[in-house]
Amino acid sequence: MTRAFNFSAGPAAMPLEVLQQAAAEMTDWHGSGMGVMEMSHRGKEFISIYEQAESDFRALLQVPANFKILFMQGGGIAENAIVPLNLSRGGIVDFVVTGSWSQKSFKEAARYCTPRLAASSQADGFKSLPAPASWQLDASAQYVHLCSNETIHGVECHTLPDLKALGSDAPLVIDFSSHVLSRAVDWSRVGLAFGGAQKNIGPAGVTLVVVREDLLGHALSVCPSAFDYQLVANNGSMYNTPPTYGIYMAGLTFQWIARQREGSLSGVAALEQRNIAKAKYLYDCIDNSQLYVNEVQASCRSRMNVPFFLRGDDGQPLLEATHPRNAAFLEGAKARGLLQLKGHKSVGGMRASIYNAIPMEGVEALVDYLRDFEKAQA
Ligand SMILES: *Cc1c(COP(=O)(O)O)cnc(C)c1O
Repeated sequence: MTRAFNFSAGPAAMPLEVLQQAAAEMTDWHGSGMGVMEMSHRGKEFISIYEQAESDFRALLQVPANFKILFMQGGGIAENAIVPLNLSRGGIVDFVVTGSWSQKSFKEAARYCTPRLAASSQADGFKSLPAPASWQLDASAQYVHLCSNETIHGVECHTLPDLKALGSDAPLVIDFSSHVLSRAVDWSRVGLAFGGAQKNIGPAGVTLVVVREDLLGHALSVCPSAFDYQLVANNGSMYNTPPTYGIYMAGLTFQWIARQREGSLSGVAALEQRNIAKAKYLYDCIDNSQLYVNEVQASCRSRMNVPFFLRGDDGQPLLEATHPRNAAFLEGAKARGLLQLKGHKSVGGMRASIYNAIPMEGVEALVDYLRDFEKAQA
């Protein structure tokens, strides 16, 4: 079978080269006589895999030396608790709510601290981002939470806010689950970043936490030991058994990213340029059609997650997945090897996630289909 283009929001497509390498090494890693899943996490083989993955990630995203890189478990949703457990000191935390994921974070934090709504775009249906100058930041906030790419609503923060310039000394915490490694990160504006692996890195089960050292060491006493960043950092992410195979797969993805080239660019910079081109090609097709619509303000459209609707005969967006036109669209897509385009159940319609592993050819195949399907409706 030829491989399909898979537009799943997560767990999502991985680079074919990575899967093939993992398959080739499945039963015997580098002549060790064992597969990676069967190795002790404390043995020299796995330690070398771990150290390579960590240093490759640091190099790819130019993570400064005063940040720790932790490989944890529990995903982004567990981090909604683990971050306040570690950073809130039980005090006030400011939240910028820009979609489903930051809303979830805001709600979960109330178990451990006093979350404040500093800004929200809910009134606007999460179709734009509140301008940082309008955020109502609290001077005593322990940190400010922002989801830098809202996977469900398709809203991306293209420039991280400079909290200092807004008069705040609080560290910025970003949930970058669904666009990590798709672009550079300005670490001078970030205190902590977290993300699950299953969008842009590898299989579900690994959570990356990148945290500035000075923020460590203030976990609440109720914080589970395995989730205390300080303990995890002191033990090189091996306080408990880490998700070893997922870390190995993430490491293979990091090496794949390092090999990517676009003109004179390489690594994340090459992917960033490619991602800009992919997103433009898809949004242009949607904007120039009569049938499809994406309502997110152009300046904050996500490069990774592109939600869109087909219109009904009355011109209104068709939300229900079961509507015959939506059903026909998904069936026709599948027949062409374009998979998992159904939108998130909370918003309906369609969504194309075009993560790093989706090449330009995948977006071209999708756009060809969008045009053909629209013609067939006329
Ligand atoms: C997918 C996702 C999560 C949740 O990840 P889990 O692994 O299910 O916990 C959190 N935040 C964002 C932005 C996501 O895209």
